[in-house]
Amino acid sequence: MSDPVFQKCIAPECGACYGVEEVLVACPKCGNLLDVQYDWDRLAPPAALNHFEKYWAQRDNPQRRSGVWRFHDLLPFTSLEKCATVGEGQTILQNSTGCARYAGMNDNALFLQYEGMNPSGSFKDNGMVAAVTHARLVGAHRAACASTGNTSASLALYCSCIQSMKAIIFIGSGKIAYGKLSQALDYGAQTLQIHGDFDDAMARVKEVSKKLGIYLVNSVNPFRLEGQKTIMFRVLEALRWNVPDWIVVPGGNLGNSSSFGKAFHELKTLGLIDRIPRLAVINAEGADTLYRLYNEKGLRWNGGTPDRETIAAFFEQMSQENRHASTIASAIEINRPVNLEKCLRALEWCDGVVRRVSDQQILDAKAQVGACGFGCEPASAASLAGAKLLREEGIIAPSEKVVCILTGHQLKDPTATVAYHSGDEQKFQETLASRGVMEAKFANNPLPVENDVEDIVRAIQG
Ligand SMILES: *Cc1c(COP(=O)(O)O)cnc(C)c1O
Ligand SMILES: [Zn+2]
Repeated sequence: MSDPVFQKCIAPECGACYGVEEVLVACPKCGNLLDVQYDWDRLAPPAALNHFEKYWAQRDNPQRRSGVWRFHDLLPFTSLEKCATVGEGQTILQNSTGCARYAGMNDNALFLQYEGMNPSGSFKDNGMVAAVTHARLVGAHRAACASTGNTSASLALYCSCIQSMKAIIFIGSGKIAYGKLSQALDYGAQTLQIHGDFDDAMARVKEVSKKLGIYLVNSVNPFRLEGQKTIMFRVLEALRWNVPDWIVVPGGNLGNSSSFGKAFHELKTLGLIDRIPRLAVINAEGADTLYRLYNEKGLRWNGGTPDRETIAAFFEQMSQENRHASTIASAIEINRPVNLEKCLRALEWCDGVVRRVSDQQILDAKAQVGACGFGCEPASAASLAGAKLLREEGIIAPSEKVVCILTGHQLKDPTATVAYHSGDEQKFQETLASRGVMEAKFANNPLPVENDVEDIVRAIQG
């Protein structure tokens, strides 16, 4: 390879390489996923992580202000000036005593990484900005994705901002939270509601984008995962370059977990960190493919040769039983995660564990996140629910430093929040009880009062 940046098939027995300018969502030789890879010897990687601190003084440069491109030296697939940006990645790591206590951790041990603070309200912007940058690089004028909502909101936002690209989004009918749907429509994206669920929309968008030559930005796109690495760089930055003990992340299509593993693997290879944190990927009970394959079938990356027969048989049985994903955490309501093999690799690199949590556990954890901080959407709270579970199992010790990734903003899915807190029996039945949620343990009911000062005073003073 003459170019120090290239795309490479993740299957070691194939390992085929392709140019960075090629538009691929799978290895043309073997069909497996691709990575963006760097020949670091011919690039100029930083000598230490505090190298990035000098960019703090360059906040008048939009790319250096971006929480993604501030770390361009660790994802240099094109020059800095060519990188798109809308100010993504201005997110924070918050130490949360309240959530620590809820999870059974020591008071200072638990941190929440608020990716809902991104421009479109979810972590997806970290990856989308990299994919859109690559799409522009190859001269694409149309970009498409299938989405449970946040990928489409993010793509739609970038396309509305940069104006040189049209967004085409595929969503499953009736499967999208209102906050997310409203974004795609407001940003002017062409929105196709496929009669089916996310897994159907994913299958169709792959076919259609291939047929029409439309740039695909789902997380099979290796450039997206490059951008998502920076979530981990910002966590390290917030911890003054100290490595935490655990990263806990919800698992849907498994792009985030895959990119986190790649981030830490690269940092370790470059000698920028001396140890890798452990990774916990949390499925919802109603969408637990990774959990079942990893814990019940013992599936592992296995140095690049996962047992693909086990995987095929699992999905075959899923089809035969006509099993579909079902959880209130719509962002992880996915039964056929496209990044499965990359996630297995990340779990190997990070000595990872996989757990699943119920919708009840998710919503109770979400109420705690709301009461102790900025709030999050249901899928995000799977991370805190998962940390609590791992603490109860004794896998996480109370003093270990745990970072829970809050993937999406609280306002993304008001329906779930209102159904939990409002005390409206009908809403509770329709939205939550139908999913096996028995009680709203931490409900903060609004108080009905008369339009009368005395009544209001009495209500406030209890
Ligand atoms: C996309 C998304 C997820 C799932 O992330 P994957 O990378 O697909 O595993 C979780 N939470 C939210 C809010 C999301 O938007
Ligand atoms: Zn290959």
